Amino acid sequence: MSTDQNKFQAIISHCKEYGFVFPSSEIYDGLSAVYDYGQYGAELKKNIKDYWWKSMTQLHENIVGLDAAIFMHPTIWKASGHVDNFSDPMIDNKDSNKRYRVDHLLEAFAETLPEAEGNALLAKMDELLKENDFAGLKTLIEDNKIKCSVSGTCNWTEVRQFNLMFSTQLGSVTDEANEIYLRPETAQGIFVNFLNVQKTGRMKVPFGIAQIGKAFRNEIVARQFIFRMREFEQMEMQFFVRPGTQQEWYEKWKEERMQWHLSLGTDPARYRFKDHAKLAHYADAAVDIEFEFPFGFKELEGIHSRTDFDLKQHQEYSRKKIQYFDTEINQNYVPYVIETSIGLDRMFLQVICNAYEEQDLSTPEKADSRVVLKLPAKLAPIKLAVFPLTKKDGLPEAAQLLIKECKQYFHCYYEEKDSIGKRYRRQDAIGTPFCVTIDHQTKEDGTVTIRHRDSMEQERVPLTEVRNIVMNKIM
Ligand code: ATP
Repeated sequence: MSTDQNKFQAIISHCKEYGFVFPSSEIYDGLSAVYDYGQYGAELKKNIKDYWWKSMTQLHENIVGLDAAIFMHPTIWKASGHVDNFSDPMIDNKDSNKRYRVDHLLEAFAETLPEAEGNALLAKMDELLKENDFAGLKTLIEDNKIKCSVSGTCNWTEVRQFNLMFSTQLGSVTDEANEIYLRPETAQGIFVNFLNVQKTGRMKVPFGIAQIGKAFRNEIVARQFIFRMREFEQMEMQFFVRPGTQQEWYEKWKEERMQWHLSLGTDPARYRFKDHAKLAHYADAAVDIEFEFPFGFKELEGIHSRTDFDLKQHQEYSRKKIQYFDTEINQNYVPYVIETSIGLDRMFLQVICNAYEEQDLSTPEKADSRVVLKLPAKLAPIKLAVFPLTKKDGLPEAAQLLIKECKQYFHCYYEEKDSIGKRYRRQDAIGTPFCVTIDHQTKEDGTVTIRHRDSMEQERVPLTEVRNIVMNKIM
């Protein structure tokens, strides 16, 4: 059994051992902060994506989807402010050459202090960050004698800004004019398509555009597994509203997004809202939904009131009018925007951390344990595993028939090797909510044993009912 401290390590190992997440390019010793999703990881990720997409688009008449390209005109990032502002204050240790994000360095140190002292330090840090007071941040680090974890010294450089965007060349000529960026957020693809979607979809404000796609950030301190990656996916929705109504919509989306998280059955005590201390250059209000990961409460999703900043900037830089004529009030305006932005990979980590459980099942007679992923059934990679009790007497054929009946509705898995107990344990470890065993009695009375993952209870049900039992749970 792992302790709280090493639970996160156990989760990372479990993800690798059971085909959820592999370090990228592993046979070449990996690539820092880049990961690949394995056979079950890819399914789980897709299910999370579908769940978000469906609840944002299909269940909202006034939200439509978009799939914009990763490459975009370089001026977009000038207009959005990313070229000038998308940076984090960094500091290097001169002895080890290790680079730290200033806020991470101070946060890690604050955790080692008594609570009141730690909070006072973080409050001071927030104040300095807000004022972009880099000299003050350096003094704060030095006054607290914060050491580099590698060299153990306090020999620090000045605090500097470091831009997080990756750049590359478009075309074969390597002059500056061809330099483009890998998008650091999906949002700008939505803003520059605002008029296309509004006009062709005849959308009326308030309405939203949702998008799922890759984003890239050259994170300096990439750590905590898939929590902070250099290549990741975002699920973002930009909601366009009449100026002056943004506060109301901001509150509405805060509530709605929290309900989305709770709809997956997680304990509400493991979520909290955290207002941003320092607002991004485009925002007039911003809050994070934080989740209690094994390494503490951390940001899972951001909800931002982005004002009319982005559309206005694109209007100015492109010299194209980006406005909406509101027939209800007979006025032209640049809409205000409420954004909901969640990392798909971070959501994946949340789902896995919340689902992972090590259980001691020992009895006085026998030591026993299991690792179970209590995934919400609708997100589980495999919904139903079917086991013939033996490899003969027509039982495998009966099992395959059941799979044939179910596989067009949900993902099934067939397994005939090892004892039934071992087969159950393997399915527990990947979070399969239902296992069905086909035995000799099935041939006599048409019933099967269905076993429920979380309670481990087994019941006898008609074979013909299996599909409905699973469907009821995953819809
Ligand atoms: P952080 O403070 O953790 O760097 P952020 O405030 O910069 O995150 P946003 O720009 O608001 O993040 O991005 C929206 C969401 O995208 C975040 O809530 C998070 O879920 C996800 N995200 C951001 N950066 C990363 C990353 N490097 N790896 C994985 N997910 C990320």
